[in-house]
Amino acid sequence: MTTKTIDFSKYSSIKIGQKIEVSILEECSDFNKNYFLLGSCNNTLIGTNPPPLMILSKKYDYIKIEDKLLKIGGATPSGKIASFCKKYNIANFEFVSHLPGTLGGLVFMNAGLKEFEIFNNLTSLITCEGQKTKEDIEYGYRFTNINTPILEASFHLEYGFDKEKVELFKKMRSNQPSTPSAGSCFKNPKNDYAGRLIEAVGLKGKRVGNMEFSNVHANFLVNHGKGSFEDAIYLIKEAQKRVYDMFEIKLECEIIILEKDYI
Ligand SMILES: Cc1cc2nc3c(=O)[nH]c(=O)nc-3n(C[C@H](O)[C@H](O)[C@H](O)COP(=O)(O)OP(=O)(O)OC[C@H]3O[C@@H](n4cnc5c(N)ncnc54)[C@H](O)[C@@H]3O)c2cc1C
Repeated sequence: MTTKTIDFSKYSSIKIGQKIEVSILEECSDFNKNYFLLGSCNNTLIGTNPPPLMILSKKYDYIKIEDKLLKIGGATPSGKIASFCKKYNIANFEFVSHLPGTLGGLVFMNAGLKEFEIFNNLTSLITCEGQKTKEDIEYGYRFTNINTPILEASFHLEYGFDKEKVELFKKMRSNQPSTPSAGSCFKNPKNDYAGRLIEAVGLKGKRVGNMEFSNVHANFLVNHGKGSFEDAIYLIKEAQKRVYDMFEIKLECEIIILEKDYI
């Protein structure tokens, strides 16, 4: 099996991590459940002692129109999906330009913005457990029950790229910090907002080392430069503790923490 060394302090969106030798999945026979399959690490916090890591080979980076469906490889970056849809006047993927990640990560997380989610137009997947239709999969807010590598996803093909939607999504993004982060730190609890709760317990703008619950949007744990995993975890636990003590609400991480003790 081929491997490559990735410096996670550069590769991950939150800019935390060390250099790690990562295996490359060319064929499903390369995979076993001891590996953690990563996309482009936009929703993941790498710990000091992570499990063995794997990424999809570049051969899964493609987009094609076939059988009146849009078929996208698991390693395809969201920016490439957005550009393709703009170029070929394809509807329903405008929100993807504002979601950093790969197709595999977007599908696994059912990533989205408000009511626009990647599952809305999905029809089926090719995975290492074979083909799965949308009906075979449980999914919801930032959740799916997929536990096998996603190699390809197919989507309904509709024409009519909407520039106004792109502007709308840009506006939705304007209250989010541009400092490195892994996106929303916690999932919003039912009928509430994680950002509101973090602010209510006095942690908006709270900084430990170079990590901070952003002053711009409290649910973004941002790295001001060379922030550490330990400081990130300290803040995550502190928010969970304070929110539970004050509101009896258990804040669930949206960020995936890759540390043996936390999995
Ligand atoms: C600034 C910023 C803003 C963001 N805003 C949003 C937002 O508004 N809405 C939103 O939903 N998300 C948002 N995110 C999070 C991120 O964009 C999504 O979660 C995205 O789907 C992550 O993709 P990735 O490839 O980087 O996944 P990774 O972080 O690498 O992995 C995430 C999960 O996906 C799994 N996975 C990755 N690839 C595969 C595959 N091929 N097969 C099976 N499982 C796989 C991993 O095992 C892991 O469990 C934001 C992130 C940032 C940095």
